[in-house]
Amino acid sequence: MDISALLAELNVDLLPEQGQGVVSRSPIDGATLAELAVHSPERIAQTLARAQRAFHLWRDWPAPRRGELIRLFGEELRNAKPRLGRLVSIESGKILQEGFGEVQEMIDICDFAVGLSRQLYGLTMASERPGHRMMETWHPLGVSVVISAFNFPVAVWAWNAALALVCGNSVVWKPSEKTPLCALACQALFERAARRIEGVPEGLTSVILGAHEQGAQLVDDARVALVSATGSTRMGRAVAVRAAPRFVRTLLELGGNNAMIVAPSADLDLALRAITFAAAGTAGQRCTTLRRLIVHESIHDALIERLKKVWDSLPVGNPLDDGPLVGPLIDLSALQQMQAALDAARNEGGEVYGGARVHAQHYPGAAYVKPALAVMPAQSDIVQRETFAPILYVMKYRAIEDAIALQNGVPQGLSSSIFTNDLREAELFLSSKGSDCGIANVNIGPSGAEIGGAFGGEKETGGGRESGSDAWKAYMRRATNTINYSRELPLAQGIRFDLES
Ligand code: NAD
Repeated sequence: MDISALLAELNVDLLPEQGQGVVSRSPIDGATLAELAVHSPERIAQTLARAQRAFHLWRDWPAPRRGELIRLFGEELRNAKPRLGRLVSIESGKILQEGFGEVQEMIDICDFAVGLSRQLYGLTMASERPGHRMMETWHPLGVSVVISAFNFPVAVWAWNAALALVCGNSVVWKPSEKTPLCALACQALFERAARRIEGVPEGLTSVILGAHEQGAQLVDDARVALVSATGSTRMGRAVAVRAAPRFVRTLLELGGNNAMIVAPSADLDLALRAITFAAAGTAGQRCTTLRRLIVHESIHDALIERLKKVWDSLPVGNPLDDGPLVGPLIDLSALQQMQAALDAARNEGGEVYGGARVHAQHYPGAAYVKPALAVMPAQSDIVQRETFAPILYVMKYRAIEDAIALQNGVPQGLSSSIFTNDLREAELFLSSKGSDCGIANVNIGPSGAEIGGAFGGEKETGGGRESGSDAWKAYMRRATNTINYSRELPLAQGIRFDLES
């Protein structure tokens, strides 16, 4: 794991960033990868001033030309995929396959954004007045701040940045303090792409290193037109309150507590695979991780027996090796939170299976755990909270309406799914009386979304939508234009306001 060589291959020069305050540690063994300086308030202010100047130049570029830069960035990502994917694994602990998958997601959103750069269109509406035309135009917003979480250290930025940039904005990124190297690598790759086009404004994208104080300074700055923040609901609440007095636009992507309903008609082989990837993949550290399994009483016990066998056999280990499907938790404090949640589950009447720490002798500074199952008598307090670890709470239901009520009976509203071959159940689940989440799936798990759809959730998940569909509208402002090409001045609603002449 030669981090210096890997960073050099990714053109990351750490020297200017060295200092104190931001420590990148690999979850694989807890070793320090780099010590970097927290950016000072002055440096943040300078970065924002540069980003604002860049915006003023960039918004004049025709959108398809902006798309050309994103196309080149996509090329850089394709070339760098093995190295950047590896860095993602080293700094966030996800298995290599998932590290590569994260970079692929960046490539996919670049492709999407390139197409989008020729499709930023508004509507033309029928005017009620003769000789008038009404339409809407979409304009860039300005400096867009992206605050991101540790668990998707590159993709979340790319979802935001690719769209924000083709929409004509500049981007300032404050990555998680736990994954600064991934951010510096993305910035270096972006700068390589920018050098391939004449005249890309300096400071079009930049990285601010630090934690919540630096994030807060960005939210407060009047030059910032959009704050797109991904992370815990606690963080989102702090950002929303800070942002509200100046009415700055926010796009919040916060915690999830995602469920799957398994109905009696479900294809259980398929369900079992989906449950396993969604609950144990990324060591339970996805916002869309499956945390609650709501199983029909007629198949509950049998499914639990099958799950226990799979949970026993799941290979947990070094994410850079071939073989492990479950890597480490991000750090030892995540391990403590997991153990506290399992204690709470027991206290609330749950029967806990698995969840023990493993490889502690070999990796004392890292947090490897066996995924846990917690069979719960009810959707008690702990089940309603998001614990960022591989714990799957299992509950029983009798009627589908009760299962949907359980699925909706938590404060979060990100992702959900049902396994059923009963068309009526599936349609009910997708209807307005069904899942209250931003994502509702049938016969696939709640995690692993494609970039083509809008991604995000309701309630305490924050209400934001990113990535595909029409999520680009969050990065632009809409102007309604009415054009009078007649020689009269009729007023709307037939109002008469005649001046005596
Ligand atoms: P976190 O909330 O601790 O940190 C996220 C980011 O917010 C970091 O960059 C952090 O420095 C910054 N931050 C924290 N407090 C802040 C404040 N007061 N002002 C400004 N910035 C602040 O989250 P984490 O532990 O890195 O990530 C895990 C959480 O993220 C989970 O809750 C997970 O569900 C959520 N998440 C959500 C999505 C989604 O799309 N909904 C995606 C990934 C992760």
